[in-house]
Amino acid sequence: MSQSDPKRWRRDFPQLSVRVHGQPLVYLDNAATTLKPRPVIDALNRFYKTGNANVHRGSHALSAQATLAFEQARERLARWLGIDDSRCLIWTRGTTEAINLVAYSWGQHNLRAGDRILLMQSSHHANIVPWQRLAEITGALIEVIPLQADGDIDLDAYRQLLSRQPALVALSHVSNALGTIYPVATLCQEARDAGATVLVDGAQAVPHFDVDISSLACDFYAFSGHKLFGPTGIGALWGRRELLDAMPPWQAGGEMIERVSFDGTTYAGLPFKFEAGTPHIAGAIGLAAAIEYLSTQDRVAMETHEQSLLTHALESCAQVPGFKAIASGHQRVSLVSFELAGHHQQDVAHWLDRHGIAVRAGHHCAMPLMQALGLPGTLRASFACYNSLDEAERLARVLDALVQSQK
Ligand code: PLP
Repeated sequence: MSQSDPKRWRRDFPQLSVRVHGQPLVYLDNAATTLKPRPVIDALNRFYKTGNANVHRGSHALSAQATLAFEQARERLARWLGIDDSRCLIWTRGTTEAINLVAYSWGQHNLRAGDRILLMQSSHHANIVPWQRLAEITGALIEVIPLQADGDIDLDAYRQLLSRQPALVALSHVSNALGTIYPVATLCQEARDAGATVLVDGAQAVPHFDVDISSLACDFYAFSGHKLFGPTGIGALWGRRELLDAMPPWQAGGEMIERVSFDGTTYAGLPFKFEAGTPHIAGAIGLAAAIEYLSTQDRVAMETHEQSLLTHALESCAQVPGFKAIASGHQRVSLVSFELAGHHQQDVAHWLDRHGIAVRAGHHCAMPLMQALGLPGTLRASFACYNSLDEAERLARVLDALVQSQK
């Protein structure tokens, strides 16, 4: 089997057999959410069919079993990400909630009026708006790291901004709108050397390549399970122990306490201090199944295949009159952001949908990036290991048919 044959993965994803508008589904919206492999679907089914119980507080066998599976999921994820202490891995609903947790709990207790927060021009709104809210509350100042024309970060400007000693630097590991992979190892180290606390949004990184958080000089790392072949509604925040220990809880209720009385309440230790209420138990178990699945695959072959898809899609689409790929920097994941001259993105997306091809059109929750690019939005075809070179070609053929139909 060639490196670029995705058959070994396709058979694991049952949704690929779905037809849309009578056409075989070509799913190129993986940056929004990935399809789920059978082991994830089976794990969710198994939990709800035979293992359903609440965690941490039951005194019966099923509760003990659910608690064990839930905590083993945390361990599994921690190991996969190179994290020694799984207590520093907090379950959240996803990246958005993880960043909000940091903004609310760390931010409100550490930032003062006039402190600087550095954000990236290309960040997802989830890594912008929580900081804007924080700035409104604390009087901190937002500063923006500009991009070069090719989508890469402007390192000179970054260093200039670091010299003004920001309190917080919130980075994206990979742009969801361009696919650019940013050199976060260097960016984090330089931010740390400048004395900043550093958060990395890894939502679009972990689905595409292995990330060893322990090798990054960051303080927080956030990501979502549903972009990583896992269920929706589950994700995680990793935080550095000293910071997490010093941070106050952000949501309050059951699960996050040690003792409650009207004379005063004491909080549980990590990670429970940040996990108020019944967690998404099935989600955590499902995400662990996704990690287990990925761990049994040849990830290098996956990456190689995804890079072939990127090259093939760019080459095929370049033949389509009016196709223009939006700049994306030197290193990128398998994602093509593009325009089709003379065609509104939404019209193109509808045309593709009628042919069974799912892409995303619009600002991709990155409006400040679109403003910098001078675009109302783009079309985005984002690939995963199960996509085939034929599908990349089909994208180009269907785009070409649209152009020809309007001649
Ligand atoms: N950050 C990036 C880079 C993303 O691509 C996304 C989702 O598209 C998010 C954050 C938000 O993720 P979620 O909606 O799962 O919280």
